Amino acid sequence: MTRIRPALKNYDWGDTSFIPRLLGLVPTDEPVAEAWFGTHPAGEAVTDDGTPLSAITGRLPFMVKFIAAAKPLSLQVHPSLDEAREGWARENAAGLSGDDPRRIYRDDSDKPELLVALTPFSALCGFHDPTATAGWFRARSWTNIADTLERLGLEGFVREALSGTSLTVPDDLPPWAAALRDAHPDDPAVLVALLMHWVELAPGECLALDAGVLHAYLSGCAVEVMNGSDNVVRAGFTTKHRDRDELLRITSFEASPNPIRRAESGVYPSTGSYRVVVHPEGSTIRATETTIVVTTAGASHVLQTGESLTVTAGTAYAATAGTPR
Ligand SMILES: [Zn+2]
Repeated sequence: MTRIRPALKNYDWGDTSFIPRLLGLVPTDEPVAEAWFGTHPAGEAVTDDGTPLSAITGRLPFMVKFIAAAKPLSLQVHPSLDEAREGWARENAAGLSGDDPRRIYRDDSDKPELLVALTPFSALCGFHDPTATAGWFRARSWTNIADTLERLGLEGFVREALSGTSLTVPDDLPPWAAALRDAHPDDPAVLVALLMHWVELAPGECLALDAGVLHAYLSGCAVEVMNGSDNVVRAGFTTKHRDRDELLRITSFEASPNPIRRAESGVYPSTGSYRVVVHPEGSTIRATETTIVVTTAGASHVLQTGESLTVTAGTAYAATAGTPR
């Protein structure tokens, strides 16, 4: 087994202490939003002597991250594989450079995500049944948006809300939505958030996000596993490029049940090219293929076929390439 060190991302929404403490670093005032354990060119993990992870494993189809959010991340959706391939080809044909801020598709891969909470973690994920939501709006005397939702349905309401014309955000919001409005005062995406499942994951619970599922991570710390892609379409809670029309095109406007899920027999549900297994302290992980192991206490490692690792402290999450659905 080989110890690996992640590439750190200092995005402004990051928490200043969680990831540094996890990695045994001294926290500073600088936010550390993400720690990437993978071979993605935008942030590759390295061994103790600085060797890039890909020199050992080749290019991995998945990546593992710690994320630590002190502020909400953008309201976003990820494309399917077909949509990513089409979008990548379309933007190349249009002559957009790789770092053009208008570029949406940065590669030709989909980006299904698994997020496993390490601390209580709040998020918006998928849509409630719109009839129930309209009833909730009416019970709160939000007549205008109740009427609009009943008249236009989920897709029409989202289109109208993000156009920022006829609808206004109510004053008497529940605390989670008021916090979003206070962080993003003039952002009509707050109206979209009111249609969505607001969830608080307990440590160990997860979200397994397929293409097309609208989501926003709001606060907390987690392990995240995803395909090695950077394709994100944003519509709110961000200063980055937003693309309402592309978001409307690729978002699934089907209502969904409560999205909180759990591991079964230690295996997390997966929607992508990865498989994630949780191992408690004291257990031994035996690798039957290249495995990235991150732990909540101590170092993280890559195991090659035949290697093993005993979890001496904390909880370990072991990720391997799975079969894409
Ligand atoms: Zn996402």
